[in-house]
Amino acid sequence: MNTGIAAVSDGVAQGRDELVHAAVKRYAGWSVQVMAWLAIGLLALPAGAQVSFERRPVTNEAWLQPFPAHRIIGDVYYVGTYDLAAFLITTPAGHILINTGVYDSADMIRTSMETLGFDFDDIEIVLTTQAHWDHVADIAEIKRRTGARFFAHEGDVPVLEDGGNTDFRFPEGRGVIFEPVTVDRVLQHGDTIELGGTVLTLHHHPGHTKGASSFTFDTEDGGRTYSVLVVNMASINAGVELLNSPGYPEIAADYAATFAAQKALSADVWVSSHGRHFDLYDKFTPGDSYDPQRFIDPQGYRAKIEEYEQLYLTQLEAERAQQTH
Ligand SMILES: [Zn+2]
Repeated sequence: MNTGIAAVSDGVAQGRDELVHAAVKRYAGWSVQVMAWLAIGLLALPAGAQVSFERRPVTNEAWLQPFPAHRIIGDVYYVGTYDLAAFLITTPAGHILINTGVYDSADMIRTSMETLGFDFDDIEIVLTTQAHWDHVADIAEIKRRTGARFFAHEGDVPVLEDGGNTDFRFPEGRGVIFEPVTVDRVLQHGDTIELGGTVLTLHHHPGHTKGASSFTFDTEDGGRTYSVLVVNMASINAGVELLNSPGYPEIAADYAATFAAQKALSADVWVSSHGRHFDLYDKFTPGDSYDPQRFIDPQGYRAKIEEYEQLYLTQLEAERAQQTH
């Protein structure tokens, strides 16, 4: 469990222990104890300890609101919250998890997996579609608890490993807003991730973040093979300027290339990083029984990509008009 102020490992040095115990003894009380833990966090932490980060308030209720874990198709399951999608791909050699949620989502994912009859400790590989805190904040915790390895596209590696500080939107530094997480394997476009006979291919779809990624693979159901696409929608965060992003000068061209690449992809089943990005609530209502046809929607995919492309083109046009005036 992260305190968010400064998480502390078991290996606190003896001297600090004494300091804390003395303080707690002198001024027994809740707030003093909290201050004592804070004091520990301000001192250097032993090797292997969690790195402290600045916990931001989570104001989006839909990020935290629970949503029933359910089977999407074949070996693919939804284990996220109402809006923050997390996908579990099960294999005989352990499982692949794509995305966590925001802070403390490890417990939610564990519960979702248990509901489905899977063991949290069997997560072997963690992937992400984009290095924003609402999808990666608990990856470090999940690695610690399960021993899983974390793979990410090279474009997102710096911002993952510094806890969001080098987010291109904040050229002066955003601050460390989630626990920095070590990337165990650096991926590039076209790389494959293999586990227990399942092979995922990474598609680099930059723009939303520099290393934004989608994944394609096949899954079996009822004797049939279905193609699956976990796509990161190329949405543009509020405040991001396509023609004026000093931290990411090639952003407009990257978005354009991503829309072209995404339009060239197709799949029987597609899902995305946010529930609303793939019309989850139209496709699945809590209590619905499993139906492999439920998420088959190639037309919906094409329409959704074009919807985001139109938003991009409209913004680009507005920025250009602004520049010429
Ligand atoms: Zn994002």
